[in-house]
Amino acid sequence: MKDMTIKNVNALYHGFVDIRIRDGLIDEIGQSLSDVTGDTEVIDGSGRLLFPGFVDAHAHMDKSLLGLGWNRNEVGPSLQEKIDNERRMRVERNIDFHQQTTRVAERYINYGTTHIRSFVDIDTDIGLSAFEGLAKTREDLRDDVMIQIVAFPQSGMLARPGTVELMESALQNGADLVGGLDPSTIDRDPAAHLNEIFRMAEKYDVDVDIHLHEPGELGAFSVELIAERTRALGWQGRVTISHAFCLGGIDEAHLQRLIDLLLENDIAIMSHGPSGTGTIPPVERLYKAGVRMCTGNDGIRDAWGPLNMPDMLLRAFILAYRNNFRRDDQIEMVLDIVTNASARMMKVDAYGLEVGKSADLVLIDGETHVEAVIERPPRWMVIKGGKIVVDNR
Ligand SMILES: [Zn+2]
Repeated sequence: MKDMTIKNVNALYHGFVDIRIRDGLIDEIGQSLSDVTGDTEVIDGSGRLLFPGFVDAHAHMDKSLLGLGWNRNEVGPSLQEKIDNERRMRVERNIDFHQQTTRVAERYINYGTTHIRSFVDIDTDIGLSAFEGLAKTREDLRDDVMIQIVAFPQSGMLARPGTVELMESALQNGADLVGGLDPSTIDRDPAAHLNEIFRMAEKYDVDVDIHLHEPGELGAFSVELIAERTRALGWQGRVTISHAFCLGGIDEAHLQRLIDLLLENDIAIMSHGPSGTGTIPPVERLYKAGVRMCTGNDGIRDAWGPLNMPDMLLRAFILAYRNNFRRDDQIEMVLDIVTNASARMMKVDAYGLEVGKSADLVLIDGETHVEAVIERPPRWMVIKGGKIVVDNR
């Protein structure tokens, strides 16, 4: 891997600068850096926009049907119908999880994504096959994209005996986090579900990421139960609640109490600007209160629906659109969420446009970073750890 100097880029939060990369790390950021002799590649950025690598903090790479022909979707409206439909389809179509996760990872890389947190379904029908497929993809592509894996009981955990044992096996074999799911409506025993999730978190010393679709007061009750367990275990800063639709469906006084709970326990919230007319977390209010916010694309072209794409600039657009953001400072907030904020939530210490951090960079044509959220031009170049992984020069 050659060292390189990228001249004349409009870097997020830095303005027009040159960037020097040495041994895969950002070595220098400054105006008119002098040329160095030796085996250094010089790239003329021609004033292009430069972002740190995009971060998807909530993906389901194992679910994707990309490359398998168009899937005519006729799934029913309820959550349970979607879960059952997917489990049935996987068996019928004999999904190759290594192939599918590779396909979706390659699309992610082309859109400038350098870090992904992906859930992986674990159930008593497919066992660990989705986990094993994604773990192999993670290893194959480790120089091109960083993937965190969450062991996730999509079909229920206590309701399907044998699932906990499979999740523990995944955690023993390289899963990075333990995931939970709607403790009241799926397992129908919220305390027992969460006790089991936090037991595994402690046993394997892993962070927690819980899908919470439960609405209104029911979801708010689950948030309180999660916060209690976070505090009891001393897991502050190690828990994320994904979706948290309930935060948009409770009265003001209750919302403020939950925000205080999230802050006290340093619990992060993932919101992806979901389709539909249901309630969503108030992203700007939470962000400005200091709650750690992150986002992701959820499933890409899967049995749940075809609308998502593995492009974090599109996700930024959707998050802005769903929250009625119009001002530049609001869209800049969303850009922070698809980059630095999501990376912090994932604890990627080497991330960021700073000297000494990993050279994970995306170059795009355009006038301003905010405009790129609307125009979403093709990625001109993507660099991961100092290696050019997409080159459209
Ligand atoms: Zn999800």
